[in-house]
Amino acid sequence: MLVYIDGAYLSPEDAKISVFDHGLLYGDGVFEGIRCYNGNVFMLDEHLERLYDSAKSIMLEIPIAIDAMKHNVLETLRRNQLREGYIRLIVTRGIGDLGLDPEKCPNPSVVIIADRIQLYPEKYYEDGLEIVTVSVRRNYPEAINPRVKSLNYLNNILAKIEAKQSGAVEALMLNNDGYVVECSGDNIFLVKDEIIITPPSHIGILEGVTRNTVISLAHEAGFQVEERVFTRHDIYIADECFLTGTAAEVIPVVKLDRRVIGEGKPGIVTQKLIAAFRHLANNFGTPIFACEEKE
Ligand code: PMP
Repeated sequence: MLVYIDGAYLSPEDAKISVFDHGLLYGDGVFEGIRCYNGNVFMLDEHLERLYDSAKSIMLEIPIAIDAMKHNVLETLRRNQLREGYIRLIVTRGIGDLGLDPEKCPNPSVVIIADRIQLYPEKYYEDGLEIVTVSVRRNYPEAINPRVKSLNYLNNILAKIEAKQSGAVEALMLNNDGYVVECSGDNIFLVKDEIIITPPSHIGILEGVTRNTVISLAHEAGFQVEERVFTRHDIYIADECFLTGTAAEVIPVVKLDRRVIGEGKPGIVTQKLIAAFRHLANNFGTPIFACEEKE
């Protein structure tokens, strides 16, 4: 395996970042998780746009232009001979002193890891997930905005710990006002009377690339989609519920807080969207090997 760090392709043993990097010291940096299917990178431009937007929001200047980043992602996949897999793109604030001041970190670092992906068992897609609401609230947007995909994921990790302690794989998180926002690593949707509803990005979610893709697919399939706030009660009484994320794709939820949702099995709308998503992911994207890119 070869890992890209700041222009070099290194073996895993040599792929190291300094202990003085503020990404390690303070979670100061941004990242993306991207998939490739069947020799194509899925939604690469959308992920890169979010990466650069996240960086801009925290005043982190990515040292290379977006086109060069795109080239490096594709080149990392080519060097690893990967046609199916997962890409972790990380930009850290870089090496500084032990203080907080990011101005003391003049050289942000870019890391690209490409690996195979451990998929959720197919059983989850057939039977649906059981999730629980956790007591940890999603970050308040005016403190750490969830729209920034930052290296500081402690909020999500605490939620995940709590969910696992309750025997669930995913945690439903609420914002400070008690509205449903998202899960620890996935966005959430409900279906009620054939209307698909998901929380709007301003209430404190990461605006998922998969979420946006699913909204488009739902529109194309003729469904009405609404981005609006709702509470746990709305999920308890929904006909269907599902999560979206780069790793999970579209995954049905059949129980929340021990309440059965709808008929307790993946619903028809969810199944349609799973099929539409899989078709898109397997047939569209940025080719890894075919295109000889211009430098
Ligand atoms: N919310 C959070 C907190 C996440 O970490 C992720 C995964 N990146 C998502 C939502 C889903 O986003 P995406 O579809 O872009 O993977």
